[in-house]
Amino acid sequence: MFLTISTSHSPATDLGYLLHKKPGRLQSFSLNFGQLHVFYTEASEEKCTAVLLLDMDAVGWTRSRPDKRGEAGLLYQYVNDRPYVASSFLSVAISQVLGSALNGRCKDRPELAETPIPLTVSIPVLPSRGGEGFLRKLFEPLGYQLELRRHPLDQNFTEWGESRYFFLKLSKTVVLHELLSHLYVLIPVLDADKHYWIGEEEVAKLLKHGEGWLETHPEKAAIVDRYLKYRGNLVQAAHAGLLVASEELPADSDRVEIEDEVETKIRLHDLRQNRVCEVLVAEGCRSVVDLGCGEGKLLTRLCQEKQFEKIIGVDVSTRSLEIADQKLRRRGAYDEPDRLKLLQGSAVYRDDRLAGFDGLSLVEVVEHLDLNRLPALEKNIFAILKPRVVVLTTPNREYNVKFEGLKEGKLRHRDHRFEWTRSEFQNWATAIGQKYGYAVQIEMLGELDAELGGPSQLGVFIRS
Ligand code: SAH
Repeated sequence: MFLTISTSHSPATDLGYLLHKKPGRLQSFSLNFGQLHVFYTEASEEKCTAVLLLDMDAVGWTRSRPDKRGEAGLLYQYVNDRPYVASSFLSVAISQVLGSALNGRCKDRPELAETPIPLTVSIPVLPSRGGEGFLRKLFEPLGYQLELRRHPLDQNFTEWGESRYFFLKLSKTVVLHELLSHLYVLIPVLDADKHYWIGEEEVAKLLKHGEGWLETHPEKAAIVDRYLKYRGNLVQAAHAGLLVASEELPADSDRVEIEDEVETKIRLHDLRQNRVCEVLVAEGCRSVVDLGCGEGKLLTRLCQEKQFEKIIGVDVSTRSLEIADQKLRRRGAYDEPDRLKLLQGSAVYRDDRLAGFDGLSLVEVVEHLDLNRLPALEKNIFAILKPRVVVLTTPNREYNVKFEGLKEGKLRHRDHRFEWTRSEFQNWATAIGQKYGYAVQIEMLGELDAELGGPSQLGVFIRS
């Protein structure tokens, strides 16, 4: 397979500096799955095109990998698309042969490595699981112009229909290392068939090469899932890393204004913590998980109750957890050994460390999740962890009109993805109760308005 990178930057031959490959020479590199040749098909002041040609030894490679043989049968060694398509092999080749360019280093011309220049990349055969729609969703938000053609399954038999392979041309005025990072991450994401073991170092690579664009990419969740082959613990770690990298970090210290401002009058926060704690005590819980614990306000409260023998605080944000840890330490919450623990994790992924607890609280967390992630949270909590008691709080959107600082139609916090009305919450909670076998009770929190209800709502779910 091959890929071309062209520029019309003036002088176009600067591409040679950026790639650390001289335009006049053919260079070949031995990789453990074949040879990568780098050469230029044109190199003038006006236009310069570099080609990366990967000549893959697919048979040799699969023979050296008994696990691959078993996966798709013996035939797979001889009949597979790997030598012909852009896949994770290409990403590895880019990182090994164009490592300096990928990392934005240019010894001779450092300023050039940070200058956006007009670049065009052509990939003759790119598999896309998810079709044209997914391909566009990956590259268009990054500002690329796309030219796409889908290859037929067989040119001689058009009635067989289309294949999952595309010709793709991407154009943008962009810094070369950014473009290479996009390709490095997104090619394997499209292909969804990485050829090597996905371990923890993959998270680091994803965070490194995703820096500056992945945090805000609308398909972030799909990219992370596919890049890490849906390995839950790695996906969690990546999301945590991305959250920290993101400016929209919903850590409490950065939480805006509005929520605090609008809610201070009623000291809603204290009210919530007290009521949640009260319910968990009254229901006889001895062990509790606070999921989405943030900076640990509820944990501080829970630690004051002797009844709780084991308390775990979980959050995706390592930064919030660090703050929580310091606060709790100052308050002597760790004085009793093995009672309190903080863990980094996510509400939407299975996590066996949280199994077997009596009670679980989710205080002002669900509204931070995209609605399409809610089913994963429901399943994780009510079908997998199945604590006896779940206490959940969330804002009541109807009450927002009472907050002067809040413009009409706005949510209380910029990281809130939604806010439920009373009936929306009631319907959701009832459906959960029926589906998973929990008795549900809902109450209002805070100063009640005859028409609008309370500012916050609390649901108690007891396993039947
Ligand atoms: N419960 C705390 C914090 C609420 S803010 C309190 O009442 O003060 C929401 C918290 O949920 C943030 O700390 C955020 O990092 C966390 N969060 C968001 N998505 C999460 C997820 N999928 N799993 C676990 N925590 C999450």
